[in-house]
Amino acid sequence: MNDTQRRDAISRVGITIAIDGPAGSGKSTVSKALATRLGIGYLDTGAMYRALTWYCLDEGIDLEDTAAVAAAADRMPLRLVSDPSDPHVWIGDSEITLEIREPRIALAIKHISTNLDVRAWMATEQRRRMMEAREQGSGMIAEGRDITTVVCPDADVRVLLLADQEARLRRRTLELYGDATEEHMEIVRAQVEGRDKADSQVSEFMVAAPGVETVDSTGLDIEGVCDAVLAFVDRDLEVRDALR
Ligand code: C5P
Repeated sequence: MNDTQRRDAISRVGITIAIDGPAGSGKSTVSKALATRLGIGYLDTGAMYRALTWYCLDEGIDLEDTAAVAAAADRMPLRLVSDPSDPHVWIGDSEITLEIREPRIALAIKHISTNLDVRAWMATEQRRRMMEAREQGSGMIAEGRDITTVVCPDADVRVLLLADQEARLRRRTLELYGDATEEHMEIVRAQVEGRDKADSQVSEFMVAAPGVETVDSTGLDIEGVCDAVLAFVDRDLEVRDALR
């Protein structure tokens, strides 16, 4: 299929695509590129965890008070712009798109992402957004840690994106510092390893669940990873479009 044929098929049958993977696996870049090509929405679920972390810090909420944090999720006035070429994150009148990438957020986020009440809230909210987009005759690609397993185990296409440890570190370092010197790699290594360790306590994202396709991005460029995922998209669209 070419992109026009894919867009046509999506306008008839809709699509939900779930992409999981560890930090630096390339899932954000690939998900945005795919959403743009397919003309569907893009949901960065990590940005939702980051936004809640920002909100709790802003409100002075004790991050270890799990009930207070879960209540904050319920009332935070979050607004996500799901345009893949220009995603934005707002809380009320504050645009926090850039602020949620600051190291202070990455350092505090484990208190939020290991809170099981928060995870349940996130799963409901994220699933609602995916299903709404699909029902509107379009679709959504959502990327995170538990999209293929918890948020949307019935997604039309489910992919676990992996890459070897050094390739992941190099990508994240380049993203954060614009270079990959030994010194910067070590700083990022400490951050990423700590975060993946905390995350792996609450979700399994290094081994594909049954029915989830694995794509190893280690030796591939963005184009190569997109092609690998598109092969699964084509297979799904051909089957569902024929059944229509
Ligand atoms: O993907 P990103 O690095 O922005 O995610 C930030 C953090 O949000 C992750 O380290 C993880 O703690 C949390 N997260 C999660 N489940 C998701 C997406 C993100 O726990 N589906």
